[in-house]
Amino acid sequence: MNSIYVDHAATTPTDPRVLEAMRPFFTFHFGNPSSTHRVGTTAREAIEKARSQIASLINAAPEEVYFTSGGTEADNLALKGYALATCAKGRHIIVSSIEHHAVLHSAETLRKLGFEVSILPVDGLGRVDPQDVNRALRKNTILISVMHANNEVGTVQDVAEIGRIAKEAGVILHTDAVQTAGSIPVDVNGLGVDMLSLSAHKFYGPKGVGALYVRKGVKIIPLLDGGIQEHGLRAGTENVPAIIGMGVAAQLSQTEMVSRSTHISKLRDLLIEAILHLDLDITLNGHRYERLPCNVSVCLGKIRYQESLQALNSKSICASSGSACTSHALKPSHVLTAMGILPEKAMSVLRFTFGKDNTETEVERIVEELRNIMKFASMPFQHASIVKEDSKLIQSEEKKIITVDAKGLYCPMPVLKTREMFDSMNIGDTLQVIADDPAAESDLQNWVRFTGQKVISVQRQGAEIRFSIEKVRVIS
Ligand code: PLP
Repeated sequence: MNSIYVDHAATTPTDPRVLEAMRPFFTFHFGNPSSTHRVGTTAREAIEKARSQIASLINAAPEEVYFTSGGTEADNLALKGYALATCAKGRHIIVSSIEHHAVLHSAETLRKLGFEVSILPVDGLGRVDPQDVNRALRKNTILISVMHANNEVGTVQDVAEIGRIAKEAGVILHTDAVQTAGSIPVDVNGLGVDMLSLSAHKFYGPKGVGALYVRKGVKIIPLLDGGIQEHGLRAGTENVPAIIGMGVAAQLSQTEMVSRSTHISKLRDLLIEAILHLDLDITLNGHRYERLPCNVSVCLGKIRYQESLQALNSKSICASSGSACTSHALKPSHVLTAMGILPEKAMSVLRFTFGKDNTETEVERIVEELRNIMKFASMPFQHASIVKEDSKLIQSEEKKIITVDAKGLYCPMPVLKTREMFDSMNIGDTLQVIADDPAAESDLQNWVRFTGQKVISVQRQGAEIRFSIEKVRVIS
């Protein structure tokens, strides 16, 4: 079965044309761009071309673009670099509650350093009310950071309106455009932003390279001490091949933006419409229209994302629960929580993010699997029978050993029923699941990995597996 990759908000594959452009800079043109000889100046010229390509993507001047190691560093540099450079003027910053952790954690660090931080709420669709920005402004506010579009639910913010408010108040505005740059039009002047973060691997460029746009005249201090690369704002020898790749990826995104986003948003709308017509307990997160072309974020009734992701994974569908950076956290996402979604519902979130190479047939397969997941999840437990209930004494405490027969059950049923059994068991009890779907073993192993439970033994006999798991206390 061909796998379906629908996790493009986490990362995109490097475009072969980008890779081709990068290749000579590993071998022939390997120079250090700070060297003054021919080999060095070739690398320097290529970097400056890439800088112009990024600048063109966001309607900036090339000298306003600084290369970083990615979106995370760009966000850190914007918040900490600007706040530390400007602290004599004021020590109050404003961020939204649904920012990426690169922004939220930077703000938290600044708070520990004595800055005051206001965190703006969002509505049920994940939108920041620009008037809340206005209300949060103080005399000593120096910086506002509101993301262009959210990576989990895809809602696009009215950054232009926030830009107008910031300008009127004379406060600097940063936006994290990691999910939008290369995907929808981003114009630093139209948005009225003073700083903007980008990341190459979100638009078919390589990983580990990004950029921060800093409007001319805005002063920030570097976070790294060292050489004077990037006009003294980012020390360290440049990652030349990656920067070249980012430039070419930016150029391709710019020329292909309309055709890509028309295709991708068609797939998004097909999936949304199909899901909403399934008439199952599936709800869409985020704004129906003001959203990224690629993003479909849904809550799946009471099915926890660990299980639905495993079920999809066993059918070779690679989706996610939201942010790739926090997908191993067993906590509801801060974004859904800020949107007022209750924890149990938030734990059922699934995110599909399409890319330029996905197809309508793939959307049909995803819908089919979602239908299966919902159908099997609602089947009563009688479909898997308890064949044995035993007990053992461990340190004079009685522990249960339960054997469940899940033979003949299509995956993810064995896992869903394992979870159901586990909910009623005590720490130290053991569950043995007997299954015969070929996907059962990897599904159960994945479930154990996600939930932190303990595998005692796995025995195989022909197509049958006996999977024993002990319930252990999980520290999240
Ligand atoms: N900001 C947003 C909105 C993101 O989605 C991401 C990555 O997922 C980042 C920042 C971090 O970017 P990078 O992976 O390049 O560090």
